Amino acid sequence: MELLRQQWDNIKLAIKDEYELTGIAFNIWVKPLQYLKCENNVVSILVPGGNPEMLDYVKINYTNYFQEAISQALQNKFTVEFTLEEEKSDDINVDDVRSDNDINEANSSSSLNPKYHFENFVVGSNNRMAHSVCLRVAETPGTELNPLFIHGGSGLGKTHLMTAIGHYITENSNLKVLYVTSEDFLNEVIESIRKNVNGSSMSRLREKYRNIDVLLIDDIQFIIGKTATQEEFFNTFNSLVQNEKQIVITSDKHPKHIKELDERMRTRFLNGMIVDIAPPAYETRVAILRKYAENFDFKVSDNIIDYIANHIRSNVRELEGAYKQVYALGQLDGDMTLEKAKDILKDIISPDNPSVVTPSLILKGVSEYYNIDADDITSKKRNAEIVLPRQIFMYLCREMTDTTLQGVAALLDKKDHSTVLHGYNKISKEININTELKESIEAIKNIIKTY
Ligand code: ADP
Ligand code: MG
Repeated sequence: MELLRQQWDNIKLAIKDEYELTGIAFNIWVKPLQYLKCENNVVSILVPGGNPEMLDYVKINYTNYFQEAISQALQNKFTVEFTLEEEKSDDINVDDVRSDNDINEANSSSSLNPKYHFENFVVGSNNRMAHSVCLRVAETPGTELNPLFIHGGSGLGKTHLMTAIGHYITENSNLKVLYVTSEDFLNEVIESIRKNVNGSSMSRLREKYRNIDVLLIDDIQFIIGKTATQEEFFNTFNSLVQNEKQIVITSDKHPKHIKELDERMRTRFLNGMIVDIAPPAYETRVAILRKYAENFDFKVSDNIIDYIANHIRSNVRELEGAYKQVYALGQLDGDMTLEKAKDILKDIISPDNPSVVTPSLILKGVSEYYNIDADDITSKKRNAEIVLPRQIFMYLCREMTDTTLQGVAALLDKKDHSTVLHGYNKISKEININTELKESIEAIKNIIKTY
């Protein structure tokens, strides 16, 4: 299709603008792609250089971008497919790709994030071990804990801790630290392969990586399964470890569970130090929010912090994101109530994402429904208007949480759990015959769900 051929460069530029690609990403991945043909609204795009890793990468990362941009430019729906050019090394146009200096540029753009230090990392039971191991590595790089492998879910502080090691070493020694995401590494290896006309480009890359003292490589999962890159990493890795240079790696999984990991790499990682970071407990989530709040002048009230910490449980990045949103609007408005905060956060904290129900939330719900003091429910008072809510509290604790009978008894300051069992049994039976009670309990459950 002639029109598409004419528009090709503009389409690529539109992708660059629309998706805010960096110059490097554009030059490596998008610019070299060539328009091949279009049949039945399927556009074939040629990936030059015969590099299967580049093919995989653009397929995964750029298919949608191209589909959108082409459909937009031609006002019709198109799908795209990428095909690999037959390998012809003399076909690589060296002038067409980035200059040698770009390799350095790629690094400076991914240097240590200035925000992540040990000082502003909140330690809790979920990350205590990881934190102390990272400190140890920062103090004694390249010696006992090498390589260090940190794994854990997204947004739990892996990059933060790894970067903190980098800052610490930079501030306290003359060692050369290099932080790269594995995507940067992948880009550089592919670029070197593409340009490797007489072997010089690759050897420059090797030299660069082998001349450093500490290599921090973030999110290793992105190079797993990419054979050539993994091989290059393996060689780099070995030469650094042999020379007692520190390597720190992060990943979303334990090396045992990374399926496509090269067995030699797996063995290497398993022989090093492995630590994990788990999701933070409630107290740690509150502490992280408080620490975070120190950087801001507008104070988000404790009940909002409590609300956020109660509802966002498995990702610190989201925790901070929620805080930021409330903060930004609170600063404009000057007056931030819990109701407003709930409204602002309704897209993040959806009803599908309910908070963990705890005995204290149940207590709150029961006391709100019956309009009596929570302290009265947990007291030893025996008046009728308190006894029923107390039994409902016992019943709901058993129904909605994993708290044991003993646990519930302890909350009520009772030594013996038989009262709790009695209360639970009584409500369980009565709920079948007493519709009013049944409705009250439903209403309380609904109140609890809104917390
Ligand atoms: P990961 O690399 O595991 O995906 P990050 O290190 O990027 O996670 O952390 C996400 C955000 O959460 C960052 O802003 C980081 O500073 C913050 N964060 C995570 N854990 C903590 C913690 N324990 N104390 C303070 N901030 C934290
Ligand atoms: Mg990270």
